[in-house]
Amino acid sequence: MMISKKMEKAINDQIAAELESEYIYLAMAYKFEDMNLPIFAKWFYKQAEEEHEHAMKFGKYLIDQGASVEVKAIAAPKAIWKSALDICKAAVEHEKYITKRIHDLVSIAMGEKDYATNSFLNWYVDEQVEEVATTTELMEMVKLADKPGQLLQLEGRVYRMVEARG
Ligand code: MG
Repeated sequence: MMISKKMEKAINDQIAAELESEYIYLAMAYKFEDMNLPIFAKWFYKQAEEEHEHAMKFGKYLIDQGASVEVKAIAAPKAIWKSALDICKAAVEHEKYITKRIHDLVSIAMGEKDYATNSFLNWYVDEQVEEVATTTELMEMVKLADKPGQLLQLEGRVYRMVEARG
């Protein structure tokens, strides 16, 4: 194995955090479906897919480094959101939490002079800047719509955001 036991464990914990993110965003997507806001749901389905890719990318890195991937239990999301704004606020907070986790991984890599993992993590550092920015943009748009009916008028803009995310 080319990385430390500590790093292997930290990345396995992060794989669980990315899969938990996928679960949370799926729960948010289904909540938007309940609210009859399918374009917002689409944005969160796409987000969930991305989180799955993040987890898989970490898994491949562990394999490439001769380490082992551990598939852990994922807790059910606490889907207690009352409004579109609640969901978007929670998404922003979640991305800030994930950013902190990624930065903690970088700290471990730097402390261990693990140059390969540090370089690998740069992609996630950049990705988190994007994730916090796009979820914040979505939240700010939803804040502008203070009546439920106005959310429907936002759908065109959210749809363009979904398209831009590919
Ligand atoms: Mg992620």
